[in-house]
Amino acid sequence: MRGAWVKISGISSPIACSKGGGLRLSPNRNYGQPYTKDGQHIPRVCVLYYRRGPNEIYYEIEVFVDILLAEYCLREIVQREQLLESKIVLAERNGYKAAGCHDELIQLLRQYSKAEYDLYIAESRLPVGPVHKSYHTLRQNPVWFLRSELVEDCKARGGCCGRSCGCCQTRHERTTRPKGFGHCTPSCECCISERGFEYSPEELKSFAENFKNQLLDDNPAYIVQMADVFFLLPLVTEGEKPSRQIEEQRGDVTRRKGIFKRR
Ligand SMILES: [Zn+2]
Ligand SMILES: [Zn+2]
Ligand SMILES: [Zn+2]
Repeated sequence: MRGAWVKISGISSPIACSKGGGLRLSPNRNYGQPYTKDGQHIPRVCVLYYRRGPNEIYYEIEVFVDILLAEYCLREIVQREQLLESKIVLAERNGYKAAGCHDELIQLLRQYSKAEYDLYIAESRLPVGPVHKSYHTLRQNPVWFLRSELVEDCKARGGCCGRSCGCCQTRHERTTRPKGFGHCTPSCECCISERGFEYSPEELKSFAENFKNQLLDDNPAYIVQMADVFFLLPLVTEGEKPSRQIEEQRGDVTRRKGIFKRR
């Protein structure tokens, strides 16, 4: 292993890692596989490491997974609230009552409050350092999630970014919630009208479970991709000069597609 070992988040010994990686979060070698070190059997190690200069910083993946799950939960609640509010407006306009919508909105109030607290706790477990800094810098822009990788991800999942409705671009303007903005979940009102049906509560639960399972999978491809776009600042397109802030955050001027444009 090159560079200094930086002990982070309860990882107590250096783990051999593949070369390369650099300014991104990369999985340790043998990610997700049990292995033996100094005659000791180590059950299953899932860490991502971040390298900057001579330092390598290791993070247990739960630090990222907990934040990603709390953000997903908040997004789903905000989109569900928007759906119910629209149903209530429509019902009132047509002179009838939207059965159950008010009760569900009250339940969502409680769920939002819990999810917001879960996110707060999960964020507080992100060790102070370059990833912590870039995570918070990214979120200074309320529409940080419009970075190209996440727009493409939304399109690939059949979300609004694949159509001309523009819902993801304006979602934050249609709620008073301070959190929970982002791309479509299975509760997105526009996606529901596009596909013509609503998922059942069990189906919604299984979408969230699937997301969690993918993040925790022994194959690190998905967690690496999600950690990169949710936690690190984007690099810049060929020919564009990166801002000083991005240079400082990512530590070099590596060029990559997909500039994140501030509004
Ligand atoms: Zn839409
Ligand atoms: Zn949608
Ligand atoms: Zn979208």
